[in-house]
Amino acid sequence: MATPSKISPTTLAKLAKLGIHHRADLLLHLPLRYEDETQITPIADAQPGMTVQVQGVITHSEVMFRPRRSLVCRLMEGHEELTLRFLNFYPSQQKQLAVGKQIRAIGEVRMGYFGLEMVHPKCRAADDDTPLQQSLTPIYPTTAGLAQPVLRKLINNALETIPLTDTLPAPLLKRLKLADFGDSLRLLHNPAADVSATALEEHNHAAWRRIKFDELLAQQLSMRVHHRERSKRIAPALPPHQKLTAALLKNLPFKLTGAQQKVWQEIAHDLTQAHPMQRLLLGDVGSGKTIVAALTALQAIENGYQVAFMAPTEILAEQHYLKLSEWLVPLGITPVWLSGSLKKKDKAAAAERIASGDTLLAIGTHALFQASIEFNKLGLVIVDEQHKFGVQQRLSLRNKGDEPHQLMMSATPIPRTLAMSYYADLDVSVIDELPPGRTPIVTKLVSDARRDEVFERVRVACLAGRQAYWVCPLIEESDALEVDLQNAIETHHQLTEALPELNVGLAHGRLPPAEKAAVMAAFKAGELHLLVATTVIEVGVDVPNASLMVIDHAERMGLAQLHQLRGRVGRGAAESMCVLLFMQPLSELARERLKVIYENTDGFVIAQQDLQLRGPGELLGARQSGVAMLRFADLTEDEDLLEQARLTADELLRDAPAVARAHLQRWMANKHDFLQV
Ligand code: ADP
Ligand code: MG
Repeated sequence: MATPSKISPTTLAKLAKLGIHHRADLLLHLPLRYEDETQITPIADAQPGMTVQVQGVITHSEVMFRPRRSLVCRLMEGHEELTLRFLNFYPSQQKQLAVGKQIRAIGEVRMGYFGLEMVHPKCRAADDDTPLQQSLTPIYPTTAGLAQPVLRKLINNALETIPLTDTLPAPLLKRLKLADFGDSLRLLHNPAADVSATALEEHNHAAWRRIKFDELLAQQLSMRVHHRERSKRIAPALPPHQKLTAALLKNLPFKLTGAQQKVWQEIAHDLTQAHPMQRLLLGDVGSGKTIVAALTALQAIENGYQVAFMAPTEILAEQHYLKLSEWLVPLGITPVWLSGSLKKKDKAAAAERIASGDTLLAIGTHALFQASIEFNKLGLVIVDEQHKFGVQQRLSLRNKGDEPHQLMMSATPIPRTLAMSYYADLDVSVIDELPPGRTPIVTKLVSDARRDEVFERVRVACLAGRQAYWVCPLIEESDALEVDLQNAIETHHQLTEALPELNVGLAHGRLPPAEKAAVMAAFKAGELHLLVATTVIEVGVDVPNASLMVIDHAERMGLAQLHQLRGRVGRGAAESMCVLLFMQPLSELARERLKVIYENTDGFVIAQQDLQLRGPGELLGARQSGVAMLRFADLTEDEDLLEQARLTADELLRDAPAVARAHLQRWMANKHDFLQV
């Protein structure tokens, strides 16, 4: 067996950039694509668009200065000729390509000014006696200063020196019709000349299926291990006493839907256990998550434990504060409010009530989880719109107090396969039914050229006693922010002028919190007919009398955002309408998105389409949330493998824990956990 090669510190640093920290990581650094140097194509057979290797003698070599400095050579084979063109080149290349040299060139052939040509082909000295490669040449993802041949050598050395024993037993592989691990790796790194390069590049070769399965299996195992570890940790048991909860239900003007009933039972059961609950409550916008959160809070409070209820924005947190106060104050429970914008004195007073245990319910923004806030007896944490928070914040919540139960809520409708894969460390409850009495929302697509007609529609609706939103886009991460704010202010101005008989308010993220709250309160109270707002109203705002929404520049918004926004209307009995105003011309993607939102109202269907348009990473905001992405498997294409991996993970943990451990060791040894928690 070969000996491991020594690697210089500079190379090590470059490898680290590629995520290669241990020699074993080299094995799983898989090619992006391949070049075929196993055969020579006669120039006469080369067609534009083909990537081929040709061989011949240089008959002409010249540095040209027009249209730009470049090295242009002619390669001759028999009577056929081909131009080689280099825009950047070194003196050494000029030497290599001097007249009379025999070379092989590999690259894509295209039709140029002087006939067939290759731009920046890979060339090397070779004549008829130079042997051809025996396997396809892998091209790896790499970084500046780390050449393919160096990487190739290191990887081949790793393949020869590291034992590639299979982590999975042969009978299992046979049953799942999966290839051997070592064979798969060797094939992917050095495929024989007759292996289909397309199957390799499209990741559907049997060798790829094996690697993708392994990756998914490791992910599933890792999450299940987390799940198990959680069941070993201790949290207060908070059994239902049905006192406060029953009283709340009795006072409500509505009955819980079947779906609300079901998820509440699941949560109530979790709280009864002496292990921390970590449950994700998924429900489309308007499905009624807040009342479930209130009931959950009451069950903890009935047991004498404190509850922290957190929302990502001040507006949303405040809305929860008002709603829960309305529901709970009659039961003798007065929540405390805490946000970053409170005056120092008020913040200190709130902190004191939380620390002393004087209050059992604290509602607010992430200010609740600053180091200076000490809970007296925290038993439950509720986080609304959890996808807006990073995993880091999820962590800091958990470390506060002993070990509170956690309920996370999200209106991001996640397709089932994704939820299973990404949240396998959480238990998931789904509210899959909307409260009765909602009238469906009519969606209209209107070109901005017909803006005046939309003004008129707003006027008519508002004069008939209804309320309306006019939403302006806000793209936070770019310099466009200022421009967007300016647009909102101008739109407000424009609408105020065009509709003098209406009271028009303006809310955007830069308003001082008190002012923003005052505007929202006025809208809620019906004092404003029309609210011009940036997307601050995206999450959670609940004004049942608002039944018309206009979304300005809808072409700039994402599907999830459009769906969330539209969910702000259609909450009362009045017929609701959402007008999507768009600017021409539309990009292909924008057109697709508008079509999806126009044709669908079900959040899960929209999410599924979104997944297809954008891919899973973005849908989950994976980067912020810290969920590691899969490197090889693709959840939109590998659903069948995911399902197999899920079942196999359960089976291994039950029947063959040593196998599970070995598999995790191979795939996870050098990583943080997949979930980094
Ligand atoms: P979301 O899931 O988007 O947070 P909310 O909790 O804000 O939804 O509920 C939306 C609206 O539906 C609120 O006005 C709420 O009071 C009302 N609601 C919730 N549950 C029911 C129900 N079972 N029957 C009737 N209305 C309900
Ligand atoms: Mg909500």
